Amino acid sequence: MNGKVYLVGAGPGDPELLTLKALRILRWADVVLHDDLVSPRILSHAPKKARIYNVGKRCGQKSTRQEAIHFLMIELARQGLEVVRLKGGDPLVFGRAGEEIQALREAGIEFEVVPGVTSVLAAAAAAEISLTRRATASSLLIMTGHFSGADDRPLPDLRSLLASGTTIALYMPGPDARITASKLAAAGLALQTPLALVSRASTPAQQISLTTLKELPQIAMQAKPSILIIGDVVRLSQNDRFRLETLYGQPLPLQPATATSQSQLNAHQAVNHE
Ligand code: SAH
Repeated sequence: MNGKVYLVGAGPGDPELLTLKALRILRWADVVLHDDLVSPRILSHAPKKARIYNVGKRCGQKSTRQEAIHFLMIELARQGLEVVRLKGGDPLVFGRAGEEIQALREAGIEFEVVPGVTSVLAAAAAAEISLTRRATASSLLIMTGHFSGADDRPLPDLRSLLASGTTIALYMPGPDARITASKLAAAGLALQTPLALVSRASTPAQQISLTTLKELPQIAMQAKPSILIIGDVVRLSQNDRFRLETLYGQPLPLQPATATSQSQLNAHQAVNHE
């Protein structure tokens, strides 16, 4: 009898952001086929006897690798094994799960998709940015900044999207901030557009930079993986309130003081009294 394939989201990095369901399935796995983005701490939940293969693809590799993954999933399931295909974030967001689902369907292999926390949610949490906001940000666009190869399509008009209250989550912003910035400008983004660059969200190596499109080229792209959150909601991040006021040139609405913002407030007052 055939086994089953589970397409499981491992979340953005922090093992505590695995769902209980993902954890239960991982603990039962005979075989784990995982992406590069999945950390060893998460893999350590697989049984000792489980076979674990890194089938991660780096940018620019040929699609034959993807076919090899299909082949492995199908063959292992035909051996009656429980196969966990473990992907960073959510499997259905830039995870090539569509092709894997199609291959499994065509092979007549039973499968199940288990959602995970996609990285923009971890990035927004890290930067304390509400992705939607009553009256000002009413939609969220998830898009890729991978402007090459098959993805080399014209970007939508980002200026009117932002004007209509859309927050943009740019996955795979690319290794070169200057190229990313010029593509975004060419797609209509104003130079003063607020951006948050968050890398390795939810991990101990997490980094956050709050900036504008104009300043983006001056920012060294942080460690990978990183994501850009674009739109007015970024101005309301409390992460670096006073730098933001200078950057975005207008006072931000005051929020109830938290421990951090209160200490920042004190620092600000101290500077003002000098
Ligand atoms: N399926 C994944 C996305 C895979 S595409 C998801 O749902 O999150 C890979 C891209 O995801 C990276 O280039 C980066 O933009 C983003 N990403 C993944 N993990 C991340 C993390 N911990 N912090 C910031 N961005 C991350």
